[in-house]
Amino acid sequence: MLDKYEAVIGLEIHIQLLTKSKAYSSDSTEFGVMPNTNVSVISLGHPGTLPMVNKKHIEYAVKLGLACKSDIREVNRYARKNYFYADLPKGYQITQDDTPICNGGKVTVTLEDGTEKDINLTRIHMEEDAGKSMHDQDPFDSLIDLNRAGVPLLELVTEPDIRSSDEAFRFLSEVRRLVRYLDICDGNMEEGSMRCDANISVRLKGAKEFGTKVEVKNMNSIRNVQRAIEHEIERQIELVEKGEEFGQETRSFDAVRGTTFTLRSKEMANDYRYFPEPDLQPVIVNQVFIDTIKAGMPALPRELFHRYVNEYGLSEYDAGVLTESKPIALYFEELLQYTNNYKAAANWIMGPVKSYLNENALHVDDLSFKPEQIAQIISMVDEGKVSFSVASQKLFPILVEIPEKSPSQIAEENNLIQVSDSSEIESLVEQAIAKFPDKVAEYRSGKKGLVGLFMGEVMRLSRGKADPKVANQLVVKYLEKQD
Ligand code: ADP
Ligand code: MG
Repeated sequence: MLDKYEAVIGLEIHIQLLTKSKAYSSDSTEFGVMPNTNVSVISLGHPGTLPMVNKKHIEYAVKLGLACKSDIREVNRYARKNYFYADLPKGYQITQDDTPICNGGKVTVTLEDGTEKDINLTRIHMEEDAGKSMHDQDPFDSLIDLNRAGVPLLELVTEPDIRSSDEAFRFLSEVRRLVRYLDICDGNMEEGSMRCDANISVRLKGAKEFGTKVEVKNMNSIRNVQRAIEHEIERQIELVEKGEEFGQETRSFDAVRGTTFTLRSKEMANDYRYFPEPDLQPVIVNQVFIDTIKAGMPALPRELFHRYVNEYGLSEYDAGVLTESKPIALYFEELLQYTNNYKAAANWIMGPVKSYLNENALHVDDLSFKPEQIAQIISMVDEGKVSFSVASQKLFPILVEIPEKSPSQIAEENNLIQVSDSSEIESLVEQAIAKFPDKVAEYRSGKKGLVGLFMGEVMRLSRGKADPKVANQLVVKYLEKQD
């Protein structure tokens, strides 16, 4: 029954920006300070005060717009969106109405089957946040913290291009990764720095017209957006199947039950009476401003991903892991300034370096050693001076402790240099052969797999330092020798 239907989804995402001061005043935006301390007459909306535009707000909007290939608007007007609420002292939000700073554009996501899909954007506009009402802190009263009032936001609105909860999940993850790469938002949905409302409708597959949409609010994680959409699709299909009509409405997500419930119907929808903000001049975003921002843009995760796969020959899995977080990607990029062995560089970061970070709950910036030193280890392995296992299990842990020493110094001092000298290895091979005469006989009668046993013995005798290639040749030579 579900297979007959298709979901149509559009998302509206509020992105809280990492500027130092607020959108229209110089109040601090610092998080976690005493309630109602980051306020001034402007963010409290006192009569006679005037807002000022924060240049960073515009800069961050342009950054995101460029990353999404949107058209950047030259003449930006501000508008008032009027409504009454206790956490909105001015009685209106300053926002953009019909002149959003970014028009169109897209965010590309990788779907479950590995193909890419563009989710088109309608717009991205600048606005300010409201304060925060807390209804669960005091038994009798609601409390209000106005520190958040006036914090700069971007609102990103998608076209109804998303077709499943999984696509929505991937889209949100991509947007989060993007704003983190751009350093404009911490992307933390649990803490409310990224908030998402989902517009959902269903229709019969192949139908041209969209069904009636329902807007769902109050999901505080990407996973919960996915859950809310899944529930909402099922609920709507059930209604359609029963032949029940339903109107446009706004619903809220209940994370405990995994269901949605009505907040307000379209008839009760607010009329915001948008009108031009008389206290702010239009802001002109000229080409020089755009070009300056363009020049300072970091490499974006999807571009890096394609470079790693297409130019460096890494697997999609490896490229995905390396680009998931910006600090790891930057570390990889830095490492590549010292080595051309892309695969080894990727393996070192995804293996020893990442495990070390995880085990010690450290951040890439805390690493004591330099990418250059990892590159030196990589060339030592490539030159056969140390084996990968000795390098990762013995050399690397020492380097972590004594990063002021060079890897080759550490290898010398700790006697880790691989033995490639065949006469030395040959004597070990002789010992191994002598130890298991019956296994030698078995090998000669056809059990070729026994090479591994002799190799293991040689590696043990050399304490892991025998060059495996040389050792293998010699082991085979001795085993094949007919005497
Ligand atoms: P509204 O007038 O209710 O604000 P908009 O047309 O501005 O609606 O769209 C708001 C969001 O809802 C956008 O993300 C848009 O893609 C999405 N949307 C519009 N129509 C539908 C629909 N029928 N089903 C799902 N999403 C929709
Ligand atoms: Mg709208």
